[in-house]
Amino acid sequence: MNICVIGTGYVGLVSGTCFSDTGNQVTCVDLDQRKVDMLKNGEIPIYEPGLKELVEKNVKAGRLTFTTNLTDGMKEAEVIFVAVGTPPKENGEADLQYIEAVASQIGEQLNDYKVIVTKSTVPVGTGQKIKDIIKSKTNVEFDVASNPEFLREGSAIYDTQNMERAVIGVESKKAEELLTKLHEPFQTEVVVTNIETAEMIKYASNAFLATKISFINEIANICEQVNADVTEVARGMGLDSRIGSKFLQAGIGYGGSCFPKDTRAIIKIAEQVGYDFKVVRNVEEVNNDQRYRMVEKLKQALGSLEGKKIAVIGLAFKPNTDDMRDAPSIDIIREIKKLGGEVVAFDPVASDNAKKVIEGLVTAADIYDTISEADAVLILTEWKEVQQIDLAKVKKVVKEPIIIDGRNVFSLDAMEQYGFYYDSIGRKTVD
Ligand code: NAD
Repeated sequence: MNICVIGTGYVGLVSGTCFSDTGNQVTCVDLDQRKVDMLKNGEIPIYEPGLKELVEKNVKAGRLTFTTNLTDGMKEAEVIFVAVGTPPKENGEADLQYIEAVASQIGEQLNDYKVIVTKSTVPVGTGQKIKDIIKSKTNVEFDVASNPEFLREGSAIYDTQNMERAVIGVESKKAEELLTKLHEPFQTEVVVTNIETAEMIKYASNAFLATKISFINEIANICEQVNADVTEVARGMGLDSRIGSKFLQAGIGYGGSCFPKDTRAIIKIAEQVGYDFKVVRNVEEVNNDQRYRMVEKLKQALGSLEGKKIAVIGLAFKPNTDDMRDAPSIDIIREIKKLGGEVVAFDPVASDNAKKVIEGLVTAADIYDTISEADAVLILTEWKEVQQIDLAKVKKVVKEPIIIDGRNVFSLDAMEQYGFYYDSIGRKTVD
């Protein structure tokens, strides 16, 4: 099949590449000349394990090309995927300006029947909006569809190639057939429904996962007061198949480009139809508070943060990504600095992006340089480099043996054995 993917970000580039890998002819279009030039030169603008190799393979096979020219990109395509950003507006609503611009452009360029599929996460009703925009520009026949994306950054290729389901929102048999055929190689369960339901499935899924995270974080906060251990609570809960063990790791709260924005957006979607989505409003509040608990833990260990060197290990909102959008580290570092602390940070891949969003951020190239002479070490991302750290060496190079761990990386026994003051999430403090 001939496919055009508009937007070569985390979603567009990964799905375009995976669709080419199953034998389709894919053209990825982006208006960012720098990104397209990089991709044409075999460079990948984002960090995502396995992506470089897969792009290379399919470019070599002549199935995957990149362009900034939408007219060329969509000319031969039967299916056009729209995967541009839908960032939050100031008030929490999803900003549809990129989607609407793309819909206009498609309408102006449409030369024969195509299915225009929204992969971006968009508020319920956007599919119909896209249809109206395209219709206002052309008399050529077309269908719109929704095919929300569920990949996780950091394992995006794996998630796409092993997708647990594909959701297809359609209003014609033709669109259903094309999209079902496209998903056949992935041997996955295909949920065919109407466009509004497909759009809602995406928001409901993310809001539910965010709820699980805030729920276990609140349990953790209670555990700290009652001598219970949240990691064991989560294990005991997770073995119940009605609950499941995933998304029950207590920590510093969710971040990234999806959960914060999608929870805010679904609250707005509900608001616009006169419904108060109480559960998710509280999920958001709990999540924001959780970030600042890390600073409270630092204060508890150090007293004042004034003039103290805090070594922050991990900046990305989770391991294996360089995405800094809405990473909890941003708020946490700003707060530490506001209280007079000096921050030196380390992240294996996200440091450059972090410097763009955290003003005056100082980073070091190596964990041990970062923690050297530190008054406290603050772990914010459970990178494998952190899990493999040499604790004896840590003890030697820090000024004070204080670790505040927002990811529960270490066992309490190990911390006791090495003689650290160790405050983690939902477990007893070792001191
Ligand atoms: P991104 O910001 O990484 O990429 C968007 C790309 O679209 C950019 O490269 C931008 O230059 C390009 N673009 C914008 N307007 C364009 C236009 N008119 N023509 C061509 N290209 C244009 O975004 P992302 O993280 O890939 O997310 C895309 C969508 O997918 C969002 O709606 C997001 O909510 C959703 N989503 C993201 C993830 C994720 O993990 N990142 C997962 C599931 C769903």
